Formats: sequence, structure tokens, C-alpha cells
Amino acid sequence: MALKQATKKKKPVKKSTVKKVSSIKVAVKTKASSRIANNKSKIAPYKTKKNEKYMSAAMKRHFIAVLLQWREHLKEEMQKTFDHLKTKGETYADPVDRASQEEEFAFELRTRDRERKLTNKIALSIEKIKQDDYGWCESCGDEIGVKRLEARPTATHCIHCKTLDEIKEKQLSG
Ligand SMILES: [Zn+2]
Repeated sequence: MALKQATKKKKPVKKSTVKKVSSIKVAVKTKASSRIANNKSKIAPYKTKKNEKYMSAAMKRHFIAVLLQWREHLKEEMQKTFDHLKTKGETYADPVDRASQEEEFAFELRTRDRERKLTNKIALSIEKIKQDDYGWCESCGDEIGVKRLEARPTATHCIHCKTLDEIKEKQLSG
């Protein structure tokens, strides 16, 4: 007697739609993270005067102002994240809703953590200005440069050292 052919039939693959739904919700939320990624200072970029030496007193005052304003802005953002977390305390009975809520919570906590780290970096930069140590690369000792500091006021390395570090990191991880 021949074996039944039925065993050869492929089983239909069940696709889970649960993950898709929650990831869409999270994707919408991630846009908010760009708010803190860079300096959004309203202070106009510093105009270097003729023969002005790097990190002059006026330049230092400028960067202190930029850093302080950025810290203020971050404080407001952190308060918003905190309020959001607090008002989102209710739990959902639906497991899909609950899963997306948990992802959202995790996202907010990560944002909060980033904001906290950035606040520390800003404080460190302000401290460096006061100690006359700001604007110089920690690796090679060269000028980081006004342009780069304008875009990243907390930068501790010049663009060359930073790029080199990133290449090294990539090689180590990959
Ligand atoms: Zn360097």
C-alpha cells in the first residue's frame, strides 16, 4: 500500500500581524528624537574677527551662551518626556495595545537617558571653557574649529580624530 501523499503538502505559514502594527506606531514616534540630537540654538554663529586668536574671551563667551541655551532647551524637552511618561500610566487590556505601549515606554526612557547624558556633556563643556580647555582635540591637541563647535558644541575631538575613531570602531565591531 502506498503512503498517503498528504504528508508532502506544505503547511500554510502563519504571518503575525501584531509586530507590524506596533512597529508602525513606534516609527511615528522616533521623529521626536531628532529634536535633541543637535544644537538648535537660536544664537547666531560666531563671526571671527580679523586676527582674532582661537578661543578668545569673546569666543568663549559665545559658546557659553550657546551651551546654556541648549541646556535650557533640553530641560524643557526632559520635562515634556517626563509628563508624557506620567500621563501614560494607564494600562490596556488588549495585548497589541499593551505591546505598543511598552515599546513607547521603552522609547521614552531611552530618550530620557540620552537627554540626561547630553545634559552632562553640556555641563562638562561649560566646565572646560571655564578651565580654558575648551575647543581643543583631546586626542591630538589641535583646534576643533569654530565651525565644528558651532554644529556640535560638546565636541571633544577634531573631525580627523573623530573620523578615525569611527573607522576603528567599525573595524572592531564588524
Ligand atoms: Zn584630533
